[in-house]
Amino acid sequence: MRIGVLALQGAFREHMMTLEALGVTGVAVRQPEQLGDLNGLIIPGGESTAISKLMKTYRFYDPIRQHHGAGMAIWGTCAGAILIAKQVLDALPDQESLGVMDITVRRNAYGRQVDSFEADLDFRHIPDGEFRGVFIRAPWIETLGEGVEELASHGGHIVAARQGDLLATAFHPELTGDPRIHRFFLDEVVAS
Ligand code: GLN
Repeated sequence: MRIGVLALQGAFREHMMTLEALGVTGVAVRQPEQLGDLNGLIIPGGESTAISKLMKTYRFYDPIRQHHGAGMAIWGTCAGAILIAKQVLDALPDQESLGVMDITVRRNAYGRQVDSFEADLDFRHIPDGEFRGVFIRAPWIETLGEGVEELASHGGHIVAARQGDLLATAFHPELTGDPRIHRFFLDEVVAS
């Protein structure tokens, strides 16, 4: 199984390390040509406006959409969730999304950097109890389209969802050293 991590900006190293801990060597994707033989792509957290700019510069938009159409699964964490959403609220005017997942995401929904927090989440389909969610200037998922499954919520807002081979988490599972959501992505979402 070949899993790529978009390595333009943000927490891509931590995703690579978590994959490594699960025995999967991640591909640090810096050019669209590297998408070719991937079964899955992780778009990390960071700053969605910065990642969006770099994705434009390196011409990632159409290749990612095409490879997704040809079967490449995608998981967006935090900024990555913003980048895969069909609709983004409170986006910057020039910020473009891939628009592949039928969710509406509100950027910086919890407030500013100082409003970052951690919370225990009841995350569907993963074993062994709650998952510690690290929320850093996080978005939340405001609405789900048809066929999108809610996987976790916090304080009345959806913070994780899945639509077929697409996964979105508003928080950062790669920063906790707990590989259960990575395992879920590999075993359930990529394998689907
Ligand atoms: N607030 C950031 C954005 O809009 C996301 C933060 C994160 O990825 N931790 O892109």
